[in-house]
Amino acid sequence: MKAIYHELEFNITCIDTQHMRKDFVAAYLIENNGRAAFIDTGCYLSVPTLLATLEAKNISRESVDYIILTHIHLDHAGGAGELLKHLPNANIYVHERGAHHLIDPSKLRAGVINVYGELFFKQFLGDLIPAPKDRVIIKQEGDTLSLGGRILKFIDTPGHARHHLCIWDETSRGIFSGDTLGVSYREFDTEQGTLIFPPTTPIQFDPAVWINTINKLMTLKPKVAYLTHFNQIEFNQDSAKMLIQHINGFVDIAKAHKTSDNRHKAIKKSLLSYLLDIATKHGVTLDEVKQIKLFKGDLEICAQGLGVWLDQDG
Ligand SMILES: [Zn+2]
Repeated sequence: MKAIYHELEFNITCIDTQHMRKDFVAAYLIENNGRAAFIDTGCYLSVPTLLATLEAKNISRESVDYIILTHIHLDHAGGAGELLKHLPNANIYVHERGAHHLIDPSKLRAGVINVYGELFFKQFLGDLIPAPKDRVIIKQEGDTLSLGGRILKFIDTPGHARHHLCIWDETSRGIFSGDTLGVSYREFDTEQGTLIFPPTTPIQFDPAVWINTINKLMTLKPKVAYLTHFNQIEFNQDSAKMLIQHINGFVDIAKAHKTSDNRHKAIKKSLLSYLLDIATKHGVTLDEVKQIKLFKGDLEICAQGLGVWLDQDG
């Protein structure tokens, strides 16, 4: 598989894992003093492109010390077990709530097949390879790793999922944010900047907890966020404000449809109008059909997550 990647500042590479479409799911590679780390891996099918990126950049597999996972949703971590097989000196670093699912992925596999179906799993996610227990290391709030002397700090960041960690890189003043600082596609960039919205994925979306987490991250005064979906964006107080506003906007939609007939479909429809509306206000001029195509995958998942939240807490 041909490697597609974007070289960013501070020896950070944004790898396009080419999951589903281009510019959708990123994995990151950080280098320092001859050592390297992956942050997130994409799914099982993304592993060849990660290895091809190492080769294209002349980085030996032996020099990769860490596979760091922001959380265990499969577009972020589905490739971890497989990638580990190819990196003899690396271990996996993950939240304590995620570790056992990497060692025994059977429950994760069943959960994903339940949501997406067997066909989707095989075709778009591929497989899930268990990681050996002694190569899965739990990281908690405040823990650090040194990548050839460059300090990466773990922050516990529940809200999108309870097994979510963000990674603070002092060197770039950047946060490797997984899904916690939202989704933002480059196709929606305008003079007003980036358009950011929340992935309210099943089954642990918790709006109040998420908003607390965002406020906690902002105390670091970050300059940039390295989003899984997709690439580096500037991230400041206005970005945080926008994300929180749309978490509340999505929650209001869910609440309004709490007792609707065919609730899932109704939520999805309202989410689409909401997203098209905020895109218009953001000055996006992209053809509406193209916008709908870009939002499509998120709509399904966001509506499902809001439904689960309504049943549990809403
Ligand atoms: Zn996620």
